[in-house]
Amino acid sequence: MSKRLRLAIQSSGRLSDSTTELLSAIGIRISRPDRKLRMVSEHFALEVLFVRDDDIPGYVADGVADVGIVGENVVLEKNPDVRVLDRLGFARCRLSIALPKADPYSGPKDLEGKHIATSYPGLLGRYFEQQGVNVTIHEISGSVEIAPGIGLADGICDIVSSGSTLISNGLKEVETVLQSEAVLIASQELDPELAALLDTLRFRIQSVLKAGKHRYILMNVPNTAIERVTEILPGMRAPTVMPLATEGWSSVHSVIPENTFWDVIDSLKEAGAEGMLVIPIEKMVL
Ligand code: ATP
Ligand code: ZN
Repeated sequence: MSKRLRLAIQSSGRLSDSTTELLSAIGIRISRPDRKLRMVSEHFALEVLFVRDDDIPGYVADGVADVGIVGENVVLEKNPDVRVLDRLGFARCRLSIALPKADPYSGPKDLEGKHIATSYPGLLGRYFEQQGVNVTIHEISGSVEIAPGIGLADGICDIVSSGSTLISNGLKEVETVLQSEAVLIASQELDPELAALLDTLRFRIQSVLKAGKHRYILMNVPNTAIERVTEILPGMRAPTVMPLATEGWSSVHSVIPENTFWDVIDSLKEAGAEGMLVIPIEKMVL
């Protein structure tokens, strides 16, 4: 019987929706009617394990799973023997140190001798070691942000995305320890059959991630401006140019990176392009 790649993902939490969406985009539909702990994919030689996110790095390191999708913060905190293969572009957040709003702060040295509460003692310990600052770290597993208010610690180190939780607890963010997002991790050693399955999985994931970072753009351009418009377009190859029914005009199609999008649009308009249409791309197979 041919092998299946075992993929561990978070059973429920902040990673689950985006993970399910990504898998669905590469043709792996997750259905868990009875909240099973394992699911076998019909269209790919894959078995999905639904587990607590904190257990994913350990399972992959021990070979219980071959690959996993988990926050980089959890991987670095646990420091397991795994390979971090790809950043997946979702669950973006940062691990930050925060202090009561009124406390003066000019740099990490101001934290010398302080008590800091966190669920990330490993990452935070290494951070202060690098900084050469001595602090006492209190490991607590949840509701870290209330620790200063109840007199448990002088400050905290926790996951932040918008910062609103900090503000509503009278805290201010003073240092970023880590920028994190979801990552694909794999066991150090995989036999050739599983390694080939992993390559296919990564190739498909890349085609979806690249597509999300690009837009397809169509516009009408007077023939006299085509050369200038072509120079502006940072497409993969030369753009497609097709004649319009109106004499002297063409339709120009290209692919542009999302991050340069508005700059490119403005330059195209200046060059004489009209009637621009911008369309999302589902997959990009290069
Ligand atoms: P539990 O283990 O009890 O399920 P958890 O706090 O470990 O809870 P989640 O809250 O679901 O798990 O968070 C999972 C991951 O999502 C975190 O490890 C982090 O990488 C990311 N994350 C956490 N908070 C945010 C946030 N506010 N915005 C974006 N990503 C976040
Ligand atoms: Zn967790």
